[in-house]
Amino acid sequence: MLKPSEVHIRAESLSHFLPVIGEAGWRALQAHAEQARVRMAGHTFWHVNSTARGGGVAEMLPRLLAYVRGAGVDARWMVLEGTPDFFRVTKRLHHALHGSPGDGSPLGATERALYDEVLRDNAEELLVLVQPGDVAVLHDPQTAGLAPALVAVGAIVVWRCHIGCDTPNAEVARAWEFLAPGLASAHLTVFSRAAYVPPQFSDRAVIIQPSIDIFAVKNQPLTPDVSRAILARTGLVAESPGTPAPVFTRIDGVPARVSRGADIVRLGRAPAPDTPLVVQVSRWDPLKDPSGVLRGFAQLVRDNPGLRAELVLAGPAVTSVADDPEAATTLNAVTALWRQLPHALRQRVHLACLPMADLEENAAIVNALQRHAAVVVQKSLQEGFGLTVTEAMWKARPVVASAVGGIQDQVEHGVNGLLVRDPRDLAGFAAAVHTLLCDSDLAARLGARAHELVRTRYTGSRHLTDFALMLDRMDALLERPALDFQGEVQAGVH
Ligand code: UDP
Repeated sequence: MLKPSEVHIRAESLSHFLPVIGEAGWRALQAHAEQARVRMAGHTFWHVNSTARGGGVAEMLPRLLAYVRGAGVDARWMVLEGTPDFFRVTKRLHHALHGSPGDGSPLGATERALYDEVLRDNAEELLVLVQPGDVAVLHDPQTAGLAPALVAVGAIVVWRCHIGCDTPNAEVARAWEFLAPGLASAHLTVFSRAAYVPPQFSDRAVIIQPSIDIFAVKNQPLTPDVSRAILARTGLVAESPGTPAPVFTRIDGVPARVSRGADIVRLGRAPAPDTPLVVQVSRWDPLKDPSGVLRGFAQLVRDNPGLRAELVLAGPAVTSVADDPEAATTLNAVTALWRQLPHALRQRVHLACLPMADLEENAAIVNALQRHAAVVVQKSLQEGFGLTVTEAMWKARPVVASAVGGIQDQVEHGVNGLLVRDPRDLAGFAAAVHTLLCDSDLAARLGARAHELVRTRYTGSRHLTDFALMLDRMDALLERPALDFQGEVQAGVH
């Protein structure tokens, strides 16, 4: 019998945001928090997803829900339990919603039976906990099929989709057909971009963009020395004399050290501390195109023989992300490609699996890597939003990213980063990275603007306000007679 598990969330005070949003912003945030607290009094704000570690949703939810609890709303996080077959089907759906065929496997009656069975088991446990009038936010395709059971017990069900495709195709249609029976009963849907909203949900959709927690271990300030020390301990940068301790501060305020190493495929030595690094941090997923990054870097080096830069492709340890069964295959494909490179080029590429045993330690390593990077790249072929881009921008790093999906909402070409129009354009990618490696003034200017964008648009305080507005919209929809559901997409929440 499969059961969801609860991840306990400690309340976090909203007052963290005061210095970032100023007095007027603080008053507005408090008003929204009060409104949500009154609205949700006596009810629970459930969030259900499919993994507690790895990927954007698992990154975002716990921190955001901590602030929701800090606002006095009983937010709780449940992670469903799946089987390898279930996660193969849901990864297929994930690809399809991105407009890609994934492994090309069918999405027919057998897959539906498998999907429904796993969710039926999980629903049984959830139904003991969820009470009439509670609000349940179900995240992504893995949880969509829970909607009917939760609606039947009187919960208000919101389905939040973190992925999508700007130009829907037959794959996207296939995914919607598969998800339709589950989603027919959802009261409201939430998407990250207006372009992702399919016509069938346009009368009950709101747009909420993701956010990062600027106070999380992943984003806390680190001096360049400490970043280098963390990377040296991990094996990602060579040791240098006089390095301080590889320390970070845990979310509960307790100081800690990074002690685990990364599992790194490389030839020879770690990069010297002053070697400019081109860095992509992502799950090992073909849509993140790690092989394309490697090819683009090879082109960069071929085109600019005197250039001194190395590439780090980093992702979580491959067995650590429960709902992502493709990691090992993707990493193997990149490694195979790396083996084919000429010796001199291979020496300049590092494929790193970061330790995931302690998620705060992992976050500290990612933080150090993003801060130490000369250029952060995100060469995705599709991207729901791209929190890795947001994280790098917060750290004022110059970013080169593909102009796909939610990346386009964040990066304005030439203003706060560089966009590569066609994600498969290796020459364009190499040229953009070259520009930023060689023009430090431009890199600094873009980085400063990037930081400012995140401060104003992509922090938890904006997201919390969106939650309050979402509850309003949900209540308005619930009060409207069904025949009156003619409204258009409410794009105003972000
Ligand atoms: N991430 C991490 N450790 C890793 C690789 C990735 O913590 O080894 C995090 C990364 O910092 C980001 C999230 O996983 O917060 C990925 O979110 P994104 O929106 O970029 O992509 P997704 O994985 O959701 O497609």
